[in-house]
Amino acid sequence: MTYSPLVSVAPTMPNHIDDETHPEEEAFDLDGMLGRLAKWLRILGFDAAYPCKRPSEDRYFVTANKKVRDPRAIIVKGNDPVEQLREVLGAAQAIPRPGLFLSRCLICNIPVREVPRIRVLGRVAPQIHEAIHLFNECPCCGRVYWEGSHSTRIKLMLEKRGIIGTH
Ligand SMILES: [Zn+2]
Repeated sequence: MTYSPLVSVAPTMPNHIDDETHPEEEAFDLDGMLGRLAKWLRILGFDAAYPCKRPSEDRYFVTANKKVRDPRAIIVKGNDPVEQLREVLGAAQAIPRPGLFLSRCLICNIPVREVPRIRVLGRVAPQIHEAIHLFNECPCCGRVYWEGSHSTRIKLMLEKRGIIGTH
C-alpha cells in the first residue's frame, strides 16, 4: 500500500473518534463540500471529521455556507484548500504542532500507531522498506505512513505558504 498525499478523502460516515492521543487539540467537523480541507487538517494532525451536517459539542463546525449561524461555525471563503486551511487555523487560533504532522490517517481520521518494520515488509516498495526505519499504520484501514520525500515536499510547501513555521 503506497501513501499518496494527494489521495482524495472519500465521503464516508462521520468519524467522531474519542481521541486519547491528543485530547487538547482543536477538533473540527467539516461539511460535505470540504473534503480536501479535511485532508489538510488531518495532515497537520488535527481531528477533522468529514462529512458532517451540523455542529457537535466542543467542536468547530467548518462550512462554506454563509447562511450558517452558529457560534462554533467557521465559514471559509476561499476555494483553495490551503487558503481555507489558513482561514480555519486563524479563526480557531490553532497552531499546528510539528510532532503531530502525519500523525493521523488521512482517510479514517484516526491517530496512526508505530508499527515494527517487519510488519510492513511486502506492503511497501522494497526500496522504501530499505530506506525508512519508522513506519506508522492506521489501526482502522491498515494504511502505512512514513516520512519520506513526499512528506518533505508537503512540509516545504506549507512552510512557504506560512501555514507551519520553519525550524
Ligand atoms: Zn485509516
